[in-house]
Amino acid sequence: MTRNFSDKTKYHINLNETYGAHNYKPLDIIISKGEGVWVWDIDGKKYLDMLSAYSALNQGHRHPKIMETLFRQANLLTLTSRAFHNDRLGEFCKKLAELCEMEMVLPMNTGAEAVETAIKLARKWAYVVKKIPMYEAKIIVCANNFHGRTTTIVSFSSEEHYRYYFGPFTPGFKIVEYDSIESIKKALTPDTCAILVEPIQGEAGIIVPKDGYLKELRRICSDNNMLLILDEIQTGLGRTGKLFCYQHENIKPDILILGKALGGGVIPISAVVSTGKLLGLFTPGEHGSTFGGNPLACAVAITALDVIIEENLPQRAEKSGSYFIGELKKIRNELIKEIRGKGLLIGVELKPEAGGARKYCEKLAEEGLLCKETHENVVRFAPPLIISKDEIDWALDRIKKVFAS
Ligand SMILES: *Cc1c(COP(=O)(O)O)cnc(C)c1O
Repeated sequence: MTRNFSDKTKYHINLNETYGAHNYKPLDIIISKGEGVWVWDIDGKKYLDMLSAYSALNQGHRHPKIMETLFRQANLLTLTSRAFHNDRLGEFCKKLAELCEMEMVLPMNTGAEAVETAIKLARKWAYVVKKIPMYEAKIIVCANNFHGRTTTIVSFSSEEHYRYYFGPFTPGFKIVEYDSIESIKKALTPDTCAILVEPIQGEAGIIVPKDGYLKELRRICSDNNMLLILDEIQTGLGRTGKLFCYQHENIKPDILILGKALGGGVIPISAVVSTGKLLGLFTPGEHGSTFGGNPLACAVAITALDVIIEENLPQRAEKSGSYFIGELKKIRNELIKEIRGKGLLIGVELKPEAGGARKYCEKLAEEGLLCKETHENVVRFAPPLIISKDEIDWALDRIKKVFAS
């Protein structure tokens, strides 16, 4: 970035780079405070957060109600492990199951762990219920997927950079083209037990499939005795203008994976949500996590869900998103290839001649907007869902300025 760093900023960047592993390439800003849609850097400069920690901050930074729950629960009980019951787990599972119109919940901590949990569940179902020969089960996934960073999950990534050096890989996955029913049909075998898919591919650059895609997936799974597993870690909990992205097509998955905003941007918590029949397949000892279902995270998640419902965040995302996309489309710039998205998950794809999205993100940061490029040429706009029209207009003024120059 062209701006001069303050001594404090230099000090922290240097510390981070000296003692922290370099597995990320962050913008050169040291954030030290957040509130609502805003964050402040260590020198007091204010920014509008347009990334929301990849949709983990749908409720905004430090939502007062969520913070109140955090402090109240922190003063009572934080961790028991699952060796004992605690008095927040059941309430959390009930609330989430009811919201999803499903029956049972298995809580974990991070998104990747919940994806791993769903894979184990689908495999057990494959052998116990579908009677696929032992260890022959296959799960269909899509090219350009992003489901996390564990060794099994990178085994079925199509992103060379995520996999290279990290084999040997876990077998049992088949990669098909995204948004193509034909390519799934070709991949089906009697040993296929599930399809794991993102309703919109976030990390791939906000790739929105054609209308009807999820409905077709649902039909294929039902017709072929296969499980539909939806990873709504990024698209869920209001982001796309519905509580869950699959509601745009009036379908239901067999297994739903949630994370990110489930913890209200405060504490990590993820979950696998499904029927009692499916989740009932796990018996004691087959799966677990020391912190999974801890009372602090469960209490926070209950309030994080309450905030989403009470403050109508899905409806607000729908309304703000349409307005935002509409205004973005009015920008005249030869270098913009496409503007797409659903609700407040929006991508502006630049043509290759633009020289990459990173440059634009750096310029936007100078103007007070924090954005992150995804996949080289896409600038993602995904602010907290609590964003007001005035705040969107504030952002649009700056976006227009950057894209006009
Ligand atoms: C972020 C994300 C994950 C991984 O979640 P972590 O908490 O980072 O492990 C998985 N799937 C999708 C769609 C995501 O956006």
